[in-house]
Amino acid sequence: MSKRDYYDVLGLQKGCTQAEIKSAYRKLALKYHPDRNQGDKEAEDKFKESSEAYEVLSDEGKKRIYDQYGHQGLSGQGFSGFQDVGDVFSSFGSIFEEFFGFQGGGGRSRARRGADLRYDLELEFEQAVFGLETEIEFDRARSCDPCGGSGAASSADIKTCNTCGGSGQVRRNQGFFAVAVACSACGGEGKTIKVKCKTCKGERYTTEHKKLTVKVPQGVDTGLRLRVQSEGEAGQGGGPSGDLYVILHVKPSKVFTRDGNDIFISVPLNICQAALGTDLEVETLEGKKAISVPAGTQHGHRITLPSQGVPFLRGMGRGDFVVEVHVQIPKKLSKEQRELMEKLSATFGDSAKHSGFFQKIFE
Ligand SMILES: [Zn+2]
Ligand SMILES: [Zn+2]
Repeated sequence: MSKRDYYDVLGLQKGCTQAEIKSAYRKLALKYHPDRNQGDKEAEDKFKESSEAYEVLSDEGKKRIYDQYGHQGLSGQGFSGFQDVGDVFSSFGSIFEEFFGFQGGGGRSRARRGADLRYDLELEFEQAVFGLETEIEFDRARSCDPCGGSGAASSADIKTCNTCGGSGQVRRNQGFFAVAVACSACGGEGKTIKVKCKTCKGERYTTEHKKLTVKVPQGVDTGLRLRVQSEGEAGQGGGPSGDLYVILHVKPSKVFTRDGNDIFISVPLNICQAALGTDLEVETLEGKKAISVPAGTQHGHRITLPSQGVPFLRGMGRGDFVVEVHVQIPKKLSKEQRELMEKLSATFGDSAKHSGFFQKIFE
């Protein structure tokens, strides 16, 4: 049986953070929770699948094996997903308590922090080098204003749940175990709403289209995450908002190669330019610059322009800008060039034979 990639299951990419893994699983667990999808086999399978993905990716040891060897690596370690929904609850009891906020007794709805959001931002090569300020747009859940996030039309419409008596959980037998699961009548809140808020229809949240100006510092590179505090989804019950993570993806340059903070560029020279020396115009990060190539320059020679590379993200200064010379031997010569080359060759006498390739080997 083929298994889906765990990152795909959670809608994430390799290299994501534990906070992202948790947040992604929380959303899926809420959506496919058996109490909310009674008798729905597909939801049950999704619930087990996402739980399995979470179990592996939330455990650094298992994650490392999976990242390196995939599903096979884990089955080699005797790992084999969840057969039963009950297994999920017995493994993850404390996680669900954290996710859904139900504890033994009480039934007070706890303050919960909002989920973190992820935004993927693509940057041009030069934008990553010099930084920029840009506006991003995304949708996020915000606490509903008219009902203050309660979901009820008025505070008199909030009642204690009859099914669980306000505790937010009911006990259910799963094979040999009796497990506490969130009360399906109230979603684990311990309260029900008689008349729902008109604006959010009892959802407590409204979707907000947010425009935000993000400042990308100079010297960033692919994979770097910018954390924008409190710009994620709204919290519940007075809990704080989550954070927004802007993940940077830098497009490669057609001209430059970047290695850390150094920039490399290769410049072709013909054999005469290399032998005689020449002045060249080279494309740098700040436009064209003149550089001198000295006479007798060898293939692969590097000319370094210090501190003209990528600015350091933290601290002062910049990397280097390195021009690498590529001497090109002509593949075809015109009649005139050939005659000139032969004349030139004659001036070297026999020395070329002795001081060349073979000499080096026998030295
Ligand atoms: Zn209830
Ligand atoms: Zn509302």
